[in-house]
Amino acid sequence: MSLTLAIVGRPNVGKSTLFNRLVGKRLALVDDQPGVTRDLREGAARLGDLRFTVIDTAGLEEATDDSLQGRMRRLTERAVDMADICLFMIDARVGVTPTDEVFAEILRKRSAHVILAANKAEGAAADAGLIEAYALGLGEPVRLSAEHGEGLNELYEQLMPIADAHDAAAESTAPETDVAVDEAGETEAGATEITEAKPLQVAVVGRPNAGKSTLINKIVGEERLLTGPEAGITRDAISLRSDWLGTPMRIFDTAGMRKKAKVQGKLEKLSVSDGLRAVKFAEVVVVLLDAAIPFEQQDLRIADLAEREGRAVVVAVNKWDVEEHKQHKLRDLKEAFDRLLPQLRGAPLVTVSARTGRGLDRLHDAILRAHDVWNRRVPTAALNRWLTGMLEQHPPPAPQGRRIKLRYMTQAKTRPPGFVVMCSHPDKMPDSYSRYLVNGLRDDFDMPGTPIRLTLRGQG
Ligand code: GDP
Ligand code: GDP
Repeated sequence: MSLTLAIVGRPNVGKSTLFNRLVGKRLALVDDQPGVTRDLREGAARLGDLRFTVIDTAGLEEATDDSLQGRMRRLTERAVDMADICLFMIDARVGVTPTDEVFAEILRKRSAHVILAANKAEGAAADAGLIEAYALGLGEPVRLSAEHGEGLNELYEQLMPIADAHDAAAESTAPETDVAVDEAGETEAGATEITEAKPLQVAVVGRPNAGKSTLINKIVGEERLLTGPEAGITRDAISLRSDWLGTPMRIFDTAGMRKKAKVQGKLEKLSVSDGLRAVKFAEVVVVLLDAAIPFEQQDLRIADLAEREGRAVVVAVNKWDVEEHKQHKLRDLKEAFDRLLPQLRGAPLVTVSARTGRGLDRLHDAILRAHDVWNRRVPTAALNRWLTGMLEQHPPPAPQGRRIKLRYMTQAKTRPPGFVVMCSHPDKMPDSYSRYLVNGLRDDFDMPGTPIRLTLRGQG
């Protein structure tokens, strides 16, 4: 199954030019294929060592009739549904137009992977448009010139991890569909409806014997539903569906994965990577600690990994039922947390007993809150007002007598929140000033615990 990339965007931004560049002479016109109209072209593309299928939606002429928007929308939606990745192209010389906004809206709702490309970006005329592109909330734009072949490296950098994940998924056995068991215990074919509720993806990680299996069993309880791998998850991942306290969740069971591997004699291969894999696919990672031996090396490593992978993190301290000096212990835990995991400042720390079920309602709420923060979007206007205040309060340094100017800020992505600041001499900015901004964002926009990414961009 080849990876498919659709190039979408309004007429005249340069979609065909990029299509031709990616396909070269390997063009295969497939417009006689069922379901593909003349409006869509398909070709075998190559970029570095990547091979994929590219779909071009360039069949639309620039037209003035009212129906253009409707046709464009339908065509785009079809291309998006056919593709694994969408490359959304805007014209950096023109900047973001209202039509571009319409596209962005469709893509935000409909596509799992979007790469934003600001085309015609050769030369300085593109700078303003490039800045506007950040505010579309589709991540960092690739600065592209399809005509001159510039920015293809950057495009490659963005494509590669998605292609890797796609390959990993294709390697796995054919994905089984979710099977839901209703209250009468009968298998029901209407399971797709449940899947569409888009369960929150949670991984429970921690050292052996922390109590992961006990916790997951308690959460999933009697309605334990063992489901097969989802698309994108390699064959040994085990996840469980649960409507925990009314919230649809998919919980990755790393302990279960290990146990299954043991049975199959594959322990060695899996034990290294199972926690890691669960972290990669989760939205929220619950780091489960044993209250008797908290914050061991292994715990710290996995919490740090979750942060670096950009996941929302909740720390749960288990076996609280047998803890004798609870107040004292809690103070120590919080102190150790702040000291050992400063990168997760403000992340929730919840005490639980997987055995008795005590504290699990608080764990549930902490997961929802962490997920919420992870998805938070701060409006551009509010950010720039905030930035002005921060600059006044504590002006940026002036290396070699030249003050670094921070001009504009926008949130380029969520999950986790990612911000971009346009500034002069980004390479001269000391880490301490970036930390000042990140900590300020965390406090002032109420984003405890979540990883926050801050990128400095020079202009011109
Ligand atoms: P489409 O309608 O989106 O498929 O756009 P086309 O690929 O047909 O390009 C529209 C126009 O933009 C053509 O005149 C191209 O030569 C021009 N164009 C495409 N890419 C670039 C670029 O990177 N820089 C500049 N300056 N012009 C470009
Ligand atoms: P895993 O290896 O992380 O999956 O850990 P298990 O769920 O297999 O639990 C390891 C051991 O800790 C078992 O003996 C459990 O009964 C025990 N355990 C798990 N949760 C609790 C708890 O909340 N309190 C106490 N006292 N023991 C627990």
